[in-house]
Amino acid sequence: MAEQIKDFVLSRSEQVPVVAKTDVVVVGGGPAGLCAAISAARNGCSVTLIERYHHLGGMASGGMVLVLDDMVNQGDEIVTTGIVSEFVDRMAQQDGAVYPPPEDCVKSWEMWQKWSRWGCINFHETGMPQSILHAVAFDPDAWKRVSLDLVREAGVNLRLHSWFSEAIMDGPLVKGVICQTKLGRQAIMADMVIDATGDLDLASSAGASFINGQYIVTTVFRLMDVDTDKAEAFQYAEPEAYKKLDREARRVIGGSWGMWWLKTPLPGVVWCNCPHMTGYDGLSPEGMVAAEYEGRERMMNMLAFARENLPGFENAKMLGAAEQLGIRQTRLLQGEYVVTKDDVKSRRHFSDSVCRGRDYYTPYRALLPKSIDNLIVAGRHYSVDSAGQKMSREIPPCMAQGEAAGIAVSLALNAGSALRDVDATLIQKGMRHQGADPGDVPSSNALVEEMEG
Ligand SMILES: Cc1cc2nc3c(=O)[nH]c(=O)nc-3n(C[C@H](O)[C@H](O)[C@H](O)COP(=O)(O)OP(=O)(O)OC[C@H]3O[C@@H](n4cnc5c(N)ncnc54)[C@H](O)[C@@H]3O)c2cc1C
Repeated sequence: MAEQIKDFVLSRSEQVPVVAKTDVVVVGGGPAGLCAAISAARNGCSVTLIERYHHLGGMASGGMVLVLDDMVNQGDEIVTTGIVSEFVDRMAQQDGAVYPPPEDCVKSWEMWQKWSRWGCINFHETGMPQSILHAVAFDPDAWKRVSLDLVREAGVNLRLHSWFSEAIMDGPLVKGVICQTKLGRQAIMADMVIDATGDLDLASSAGASFINGQYIVTTVFRLMDVDTDKAEAFQYAEPEAYKKLDREARRVIGGSWGMWWLKTPLPGVVWCNCPHMTGYDGLSPEGMVAAEYEGRERMMNMLAFARENLPGFENAKMLGAAEQLGIRQTRLLQGEYVVTKDDVKSRRHFSDSVCRGRDYYTPYRALLPKSIDNLIVAGRHYSVDSAGQKMSREIPPCMAQGEAAGIAVSLALNAGSALRDVDATLIQKGMRHQGADPGDVPSSNALVEEMEG
């Protein structure tokens, strides 16, 4: 945690140049923000998308989070479609995405051996073998390329290298945003704003209520020159010896899920979703620097161990750590409705559900702050409690939130209304029209209460 600050200086006030005027400004070009921008633009809005880094994709590319999860419910229906499917199809066309065909999505040892190292297993199942399901292993650069293509094709005004710093307020309305750039501060004026920063930067600056959540952080990395066939052959031929070595490897890295390495679309390159580290604040520069130091030390220890001990890793080399530190949770909106862990676990259905992931449904109200009329959020900082967010923050559902938010702003603009007055059934229709599943029809295993709300 950052130390308590005791000294302050008064900053100058200044004339800030207005570099764009737009119907909608989306802040944050991660999975949620990309889909929000594309969706709003396709619905007829002029859209400016602001991103602090030189690439699009957030955790999915810069954070090197390389498996799309939470795409199917327990009934094996694919529930995250729409723009999510477009990303998958386009990446696959560039050899940048791998996923099991429907006939392989069964529960058998044969399929487990074929697909588990791609991360396409039901991690929520405790018994072995876990079922194979529709999840997508992808390449981060393919994600960046597809993002740029889709954004350009939709006619979005893209402003990279622009770090959001402040909301321009007029009562309950956000009139625009100020970004820090190499050329100094710049303003973008807009009628509707979408916060997709993942850390609620815009909504918190605009005065929305939030809580400070926290979860493990991870300096994800990739190794190259791994003989994955040899590594897998060892795992299945000598399970006891493998288990012993794998336990030791996970002790060396000091914090990982069971499957600490997964295959990627690049032969010989594996994705390591570790080391997980606790106690770091994903908003504080001091905390993030400390995590970079610790994470890099731990990953080099792991590489040395793997080269020395693990069949298939003898020639492995460090391909590199992710450009962005893996932050899962910071500020969480406390908006018109706060989704709870119980809602997620019990698969509670909401009549104003506008998107879904796995077996959970997101009500429109969980994207809306209480006090601001023209601001909506999409992504991992949505209105949810900390425990609920840990179970409902995967990439595809965040993308679906963005797609729904893009439709909502276009409806509000057309009606000249506040976002909270938009009829959720119209967003649901818009999602269906775009090929996405808004979760309006509950699956058979959903908790549907008589008086939904
Ligand atoms: C280590 C790790 C492993 C994970 N594993 C998986 C997994 O296996 N499968 C899965 O589906 N999900 C996984 N997740 C979750 C998933 O990656 C995130 O929840 C998801 O990416 C959230 O998307 P988002 O668009 O809300 O936020 P982000 O991906 O964080 O994107 C936010 C974007 O906003 C930009 N931004 C932020 N602040 C500003 C600012 N002030 N000005 C301008 N731009 C700004 C960022 O640069 C970024 O591009 C994992 C997450 C982590 C960290």
